[in-house]
Amino acid sequence: MSPSTHSAAAAADTARTALRGLDAIRAELAAIYRDLHAHPELSFAEHRTAAEVARRAREYGCEVTAGVGGTGVVAVLANGPGPVVLVRADIDALPVTEQTGLDHASTTEGVMHACGHDMHVSCLLGALKLLADARALWSGTVLGVFQPAEEVGRGARAMLDDGLYERFGTPDVVLGQHVGPFPAGMVGAHAGPAFAGADALKVVLYGKGAHGSRPEASVDPVVMAASTVLRLQTIVSREIPAGETAVVTVGALNAGTKDNIIPEEAELKLNIRTYTKDVRTKVLAAVERIVRGEAAVAGAEREPDITEIASFPVLVNDGAATARTMAAIGAVIGAHQMLDPGPVTGSEDVGLFGTHAEVPVCYWLFGGADPAVYGAAAAAGTLDEDIPSNHSPFFAPLVEPTLTTGVTALTTAALAWLDAR
Ligand code: ZN
Ligand code: ZN
Repeated sequence: MSPSTHSAAAAADTARTALRGLDAIRAELAAIYRDLHAHPELSFAEHRTAAEVARRAREYGCEVTAGVGGTGVVAVLANGPGPVVLVRADIDALPVTEQTGLDHASTTEGVMHACGHDMHVSCLLGALKLLADARALWSGTVLGVFQPAEEVGRGARAMLDDGLYERFGTPDVVLGQHVGPFPAGMVGAHAGPAFAGADALKVVLYGKGAHGSRPEASVDPVVMAASTVLRLQTIVSREIPAGETAVVTVGALNAGTKDNIIPEEAELKLNIRTYTKDVRTKVLAAVERIVRGEAAVAGAEREPDITEIASFPVLVNDGAATARTMAAIGAVIGAHQMLDPGPVTGSEDVGLFGTHAEVPVCYWLFGGADPAVYGAAAAAGTLDEDIPSNHSPFFAPLVEPTLTTGVTALTTAALAWLDAR
C-alpha cells in the first residue's frame, strides 16, 4: 500500500465514522435546501441567506463571523494544532425566472438558484455539523467559507480584500464543489486546468443617428453591430488552432427604440472562455481588432468603447491535491461513483483563494441529475435536450442522493487534509 492509498484509507475510515451522524440531520438539511431554493438572492444581496447560514453554523458549533467581503460568512471550527483547511460554498443566485414547477420553486420573481449554490450551502452546513460533532477524531482548523457573488466573479476577491486570511488564518489547502448536470451520486475532479478563464466585456459602438428614411445622413450602429457579431464568430473558427479551446459568445445586443429612427449607438455584451494565457491574449486582441475594424469600415467618427465587466482566472486543480482528495472520497462512495468530468467551459472564482495563499486547490463536481432520467437520455442521445444544465430555468438537482453525496464528499475531503487524532 502506497502512503497516499494508506492515508486515503485512513481518512475514509474516519469519514465513515463522522458520517454516521448524517442520518440524524438529513431531513433538516433537505429543509434548509428547499428554504434556500425558495428564497434566492442575487450577488452581494444575499442578506437572508447569510443570516440563515450564520444562524445554522452557530447552532452547529462554529465560531461565526458575518459581513466578510460584503455578505460573506466565515464559520470556523478550531480544534487544536494542525492544518488549516478552507472549505468553500458560494451562496448567490441568478437573474433567471424559475420554470421548474417545483413545490419549493423560487418565490422571488426573476431570481432563481439556477446554478445550485443553495445545494452547495446546504452541503457545507451539513459537513460542518458532522465535523463539529466528530471533533474527537481530528485536529486542525476548518475554515468554512460561504462566499457571496460568485456569479459576477467578485465575491472571492471581496472576501480576500476584507482580510479573510489575516483575520481567520491562511489555509494549507482550498476545497470546494459544484453541482452539475450528470447523475446524482457521482463525484469527480479534473486535475490541471479544470474551469475556463472567463472574460466579460461590454462594447459600445458609436454611430450617427438619423431619421429611418434618410440612411445617407447616418452612420448606422445597428448594421455595424450586426457585422461585428458575425465577424466575432471567426475568432474561434479561423484564428484559434483546432487543438485549442475557446468560446466567444455575444450574449446581449441592444440598439434603437423605434422602426424609423436610426439610433446613435449599439451595445454588445461578450463572454469569452479560454484555458491558457496565450489563447486568452489572442482572443482578447482579436475582439479588439474586430470591434475597432468594423467601426472604422462603417465610417464611425468615434472609436468604440470596450470595457471589462468581469474576469475570472482559469481554475487549476493541483495534481497531487486532487489525487489525495479524490482517493479519499472514492474510498467512501466507491470507485464506480467516481468520474473525470474533463475540463469544463464554466468559470469559477474559487481558484483565487488558492492563488492568493499559494496553496493547492481541489474543486470537484458532483451530479444532481436523476440517474434514471440521465440514463434514458444518454441512451437516446438526447442529453442536451433532456438534462437541464446550470443557469437553465429548469435546472433542479434531485435533492437526494445529491445532498448526501455532497455532504459525504466535503466531510471526507476535509478529513483527508486534517490531522487524525
Ligand atoms: Zn453559475
Ligand atoms: Zn455556480
